[in-house]
Amino acid sequence: MHCPFCGANDTKVIDSRLVAEGDQVRRRRECLASGCGERFTTFETAELVLPRLIKSDGSRQPFDEEKLRAGMQRALEKRPVSVERLEAALAHIKHKLRATGEREVKSLVVGELVMGELQKLDEVAYIRFASVYRRFQDLNEFREEIDRLAREPAKE
Ligand SMILES: [Zn+2]
Repeated sequence: MHCPFCGANDTKVIDSRLVAEGDQVRRRRECLASGCGERFTTFETAELVLPRLIKSDGSRQPFDEEKLRAGMQRALEKRPVSVERLEAALAHIKHKLRATGEREVKSLVVGELVMGELQKLDEVAYIRFASVYRRFQDLNEFREEIDRLAREPAKE
């Protein structure tokens, strides 16, 4: 880390401690450049910003949690899935997006994550979402999914 006073490359950490209940690391640093020797403090926190989404036309959009929740709620309408389970699924999706460490991800990635979560929550909701989501993508794949479900014995 560069010294903010003289711009030297070499600074040394002289103290490091957890703050903000362990969510932050506070570091005291000292510049090693001769004639400077200034001390300064840095704070380190985990990057919790969600990546921006790259749409199929190449445009970028900020991640919109409300939009995602609304889309999943629509798919789950009148299905026996609690709000808690929906929120847990949303948390999984956000966690996975943050874990990519990317600043931008294709919106397709989010769609796939949503389908993965809905598939675990409720197959009807999954199919509803997939039918909308995949409409312009891969009709054959969707049809195969419908066929696969039709072959399986009913669970309800
Ligand atoms: Zn310095």
